[in-house]
Amino acid sequence: MNKSLRIVGAFIVVVIIALFVTQGYKEKYRVADTRYMDATLGIEERIDILLGQMTLEEKAGQMALVEKNAVRDLRDIKRYEIGGLLSGGGSKPDDNTPAGWRRMIEEFDTLSRSTRLGIPVLYGVDAIHGHGNVPGATIFPHSIGLGAIGDVDLVERIAAATAMEVQATGVSWVFSPTLDAPQDIRWGRVYETYSSDFEMVGDMGAALVRGLQGTDPEKVSLIATAKHYLGSGAMGWNTSSNESYRIDQGTTEISEAALREFYLPPFKQAVDAGVLSVMAGLNSYGDTKISANKYLLTDVLKDELGFKGFVVSDWYGVYEIPGGRYASTVTALNAGIDMVMLPFDYSLFTRDVVKAVRGGDVSEERANDSVRRILRAKFAAGLFEGLPSAPLESVGSAEHRALARDAVSRSLVLLKNKNSAIETLRSADTIVIAGSAADNTGMQSGAWTIEWQGVDGNIVPGATSILEGIAEAVDFSVEITYAKDGNFSDPAVLADVGIAIVGERPYAEGFGDSDEPTFTKEDLETISRVQNASKRIVVIIVSGRPLILPPQSTDWDAIVAAWFPGSEGAGVADVLFGTKKFTGKVPLPWPSYIEQSPFTPDGVSSDSTPPEFERGFGLQI
Ligand code: BGC
Ligand code: BGC
Repeated sequence: MNKSLRIVGAFIVVVIIALFVTQGYKEKYRVADTRYMDATLGIEERIDILLGQMTLEEKAGQMALVEKNAVRDLRDIKRYEIGGLLSGGGSKPDDNTPAGWRRMIEEFDTLSRSTRLGIPVLYGVDAIHGHGNVPGATIFPHSIGLGAIGDVDLVERIAAATAMEVQATGVSWVFSPTLDAPQDIRWGRVYETYSSDFEMVGDMGAALVRGLQGTDPEKVSLIATAKHYLGSGAMGWNTSSNESYRIDQGTTEISEAALREFYLPPFKQAVDAGVLSVMAGLNSYGDTKISANKYLLTDVLKDELGFKGFVVSDWYGVYEIPGGRYASTVTALNAGIDMVMLPFDYSLFTRDVVKAVRGGDVSEERANDSVRRILRAKFAAGLFEGLPSAPLESVGSAEHRALARDAVSRSLVLLKNKNSAIETLRSADTIVIAGSAADNTGMQSGAWTIEWQGVDGNIVPGATSILEGIAEAVDFSVEITYAKDGNFSDPAVLADVGIAIVGERPYAEGFGDSDEPTFTKEDLETISRVQNASKRIVVIIVSGRPLILPPQSTDWDAIVAAWFPGSEGAGVADVLFGTKKFTGKVPLPWPSYIEQSPFTPDGVSSDSTPPEFERGFGLQI
């Protein structure tokens, strides 16, 4: 009796203690004030209400940006309250269709909303020339081609079309525009920016921000990202910190005065246009990785330029700061990084952030500032009210393709036209066509299309190759013969005009670093076969940058720079056959030989000799 009384007594005590504990727990995790869900309140008020109720763990989660393939268990999105997910280049859902993308993102989004506070997760993609990861999307010319056009209004319309395709799939965040302003054609990322001219980069970048986000920074359709802050266009040859690369992820070797005069203004323009995120580059300035540079990230970007959005680090960039995982995290957060593109291990990261704030290595105020900035962007994008949306049919729509085709035709730069080659082409009866890029939608699209490094062959869904565009454009009485390598069956009969379409295989980032961007041996052989089979030759260069012209190019009649035109190859034929005129201009100096590179931002070559073609050059016929 006594014994069972004691057991009952002990049981009651345990129950009472358990009740107290869960009550306390509930009190701590209770969402006392849900007014942050009220869209009629101002953004700063909503942030205050929400931030005031967040635990340190929840704040740490918001600061994590994770590649979706690195999520070990989908429930981790909820468990860690992950703030952002991304698709790296080529990272796709199993059902790799626009609808499959939307379903994937909806699933992530639902998990994030089922957390205590229901803070929606961001989903980011590069979309640097249309929604390139998604098969069937419209692939616009890479930025360098838009720089050859120089029309800010067109850039804004392209960005708005891209935003629509992106929103249709539920993506809320785009890692674009690139504002690097490259001066050295040996760098593998030249084509990601519009020009080497800072004013043009600033104007076009701001237009891209307006097109992607809209003009009210408190109510945006998407979050845009100005990248890669700062000085990436001035990295030196052989300074890369990545042993597989030469320039990319290298050291910016210029004075602070030059950094401020040339490289900062485009970012200022993007900030003034209301851009809600800025990505810190993987480059170093002096001995310091940008992600560790408090002066540039906090004093200059946030305080001086008044940037109100959040700073995101680039791929694994924080861990490239020396000192080991914990120390580099502390350094980056203290420098002003708000969200860390880990992009892999979130459990260690969130633990590090909690430890850093608890132990005082990072102040609570600093962590709150980061979360405030991230929430500001999420509120502005309307994410608390739901995922972005647009009709799925807008992905690769006829209207967007027509816009891209128009851009392609305007981006072509006529570098040379001897013996009236172009005029002759427009009235030719017989044409021979060859070349690695003639019938290859993968190659003409460049990298960041379907895969990170791009694809080879006619495998971009919905795309039209340059050859197909030509075949559609010419009158059926014109005889066209195509042989990829230029081995025509009857070379003795000379065609009126031969067209060789050659250039660079797609490449992304440091894989495109090259000590001398020029023509491959195979392409040159093809070109000479086309010459042997025709009376005049037109060489069309498909590339992400100027290619050094070989000595035999003096025998080429016409040369056209087509950049990486994207999915709408028909835009090339529109100009070749005279429906439209050549109006494009080279957006950066085109060197005669590689020792002229890099140029100064004012367009002066390394040895002060004039380039083959000055910035702004382009024949108009
Ligand atoms: C690139 C960024 C890109 C990110 C996500 C990085 O390696 O430098 O430009 O936004 O990956 O794909
Ligand atoms: C990703 C890219 C990223 C790169 C960085 C790739 O695996 O797909 O998006 O920029 O890694 O090295």
